[in-house]
Amino acid sequence: MDFRNCKMCGRIYRHINLPYCPSCLNDWEEMFVKVRDYIWDNPKANVKEVSDETGVEEKIILEFLREGRIELTTESIGFSCERCNTPIKSGRYCDSCAKKMATELKKGLSTSTSDRSIGRDGKRMYTADRTRKRRS
Ligand SMILES: [Zn+2]
Ligand SMILES: [Zn+2]
Repeated sequence: MDFRNCKMCGRIYRHINLPYCPSCLNDWEEMFVKVRDYIWDNPKANVKEVSDETGVEEKIILEFLREGRIELTTESIGFSCERCNTPIKSGRYCDSCAKKMATELKKGLSTSTSDRSIGRDGKRMYTADRTRKRRS
């Protein structure tokens, strides 16, 4: 079983798929609806305005955005890529960082599996390594 501290009240609860305990979940859903409706009606609002108008803390709104539950319609002030700080609408990274990270992840995966099976991928990686060394 997976026990965690609720992100909202800090109580220990049995984790299923949300970072909140069952009693906070109700409040949380209410806040989510408020924030979503406000953004729906005020597509140009930034995080701070949404927070002021809905009474929902900015960090919770950011949480919704990070989870991709809500999306700002404009790249608004107050929410940006965790890697390069480019303004984004939702999620954690901008498109270009997301692409870069997917590539890095693939590379990481083939590095860890290359010990077991050195094939065409191993060769390609070796070439990439040499190119990088020569350039620096
Ligand atoms: Zn809680
Ligand atoms: Zn980025």
